[in-house]
Amino acid sequence: MELENLRKHIRTLATLPVTDAEVISCYLTLEGGSVTDRNAFDTQVRFLKQGMAGTARRDSEDALKRIEEYLTIELLPDAKGIAIFSRAGAEPFFLPLQLRVPLPIWVAVDITPNIYHLVELKDTYHRYVVMISTEESVRILEVNLGAVTEELWKDRPELRKRVGREWTKDHYQDHRRERAQRFIKEKIKVLDRLVSAGGYAHLILAGNPRITAQVSHQLPKHLAAKLIDTVPASGRAQVSDIVEATIASFIQQEENESRRAAGEVIRAARAGGLAIVGTGPTFQALEQGRVDTLVLAQAYEPAPGWQCAACGRMEVEATKPAECRQCGAGELRSFDVREEMVRLAEQSGCDIEVVELSDSLMLHGGAGCLLRYRLPTEYV
Ligand SMILES: [Zn+2]
Repeated sequence: MELENLRKHIRTLATLPVTDAEVISCYLTLEGGSVTDRNAFDTQVRFLKQGMAGTARRDSEDALKRIEEYLTIELLPDAKGIAIFSRAGAEPFFLPLQLRVPLPIWVAVDITPNIYHLVELKDTYHRYVVMISTEESVRILEVNLGAVTEELWKDRPELRKRVGREWTKDHYQDHRRERAQRFIKEKIKVLDRLVSAGGYAHLILAGNPRITAQVSHQLPKHLAAKLIDTVPASGRAQVSDIVEATIASFIQQEENESRRAAGEVIRAARAGGLAIVGTGPTFQALEQGRVDTLVLAQAYEPAPGWQCAACGRMEVEATKPAECRQCGAGELRSFDVREEMVRLAEQSGCDIEVVELSDSLMLHGGAGCLLRYRLPTEYV
């Protein structure tokens, strides 16, 4: 699956209207067309069924049955992960997403789909272009969500065309150098055209270090701004190994970017700028639609929130209230605060950064955001 499709599916899931029936969100790791740890999955399913009765139990069983059927017959041999969202009841919903990257084993039942793991995936594996240059050839590939999705361009010119015997050695060397220069210039033109036509934001150069250095040196400014790394590889390396190396590099770069975002949030929040940190303020800003970029630490595990069944008011960072503070109703249900945060963020089209390692963000509660604007009450 490609990034654009994943984005669309996440949007669908984030905006799925709630019904009486609950949604089963099921994430699994796959290998060779089957589920890797079937036992772990079955245990989680058994655990979820405990304490369910009546219509809720029947709906969950129906929803699970569809998942089971799908897992038995539909798995792709090269898929490494799958996310399935299934709901029975009056308005059934079923969305299976097979991916070329592994996913954690995770099953949840809730009134809305659990999309956090998909959002994290979207943040980690973007799409980018790799240009692999060796002495003999140049290839330009698109990597999308952790797999090569398209060979955009390939060229194997005869670098060493026959040279007339009358040429002196010096003459020949000059000629080769000039050809090599022209060759690089031409390839950069091709690259430029492909990158702008495909709307790519990131570029990695790979291959012969001498050639990639020359390419990198000659990139026009707008392409150089998209270059995130140069990955050396010998002429004998397999394309798949080179691509693996660029994926590792890309993930590292992405993590750096997320860390920078976390640093910016903390700095701006301290300086009274357009940012806030902490579960409560971040949640409130999301509800108000004021968030530009949501930044979450990967280790972020907020306590459950409480939502009023009557008016929908949500409380975070609170022990279970005896009654709703807005309408006084007594029925409150718990909800997963992190899930609700990413759902709200997706609904309003915010960027979401998940930071793998950020002690400083964890010290500030593990969540924060860059704001679109501040409220007058926030100016002190
Ligand atoms: Zn209420």
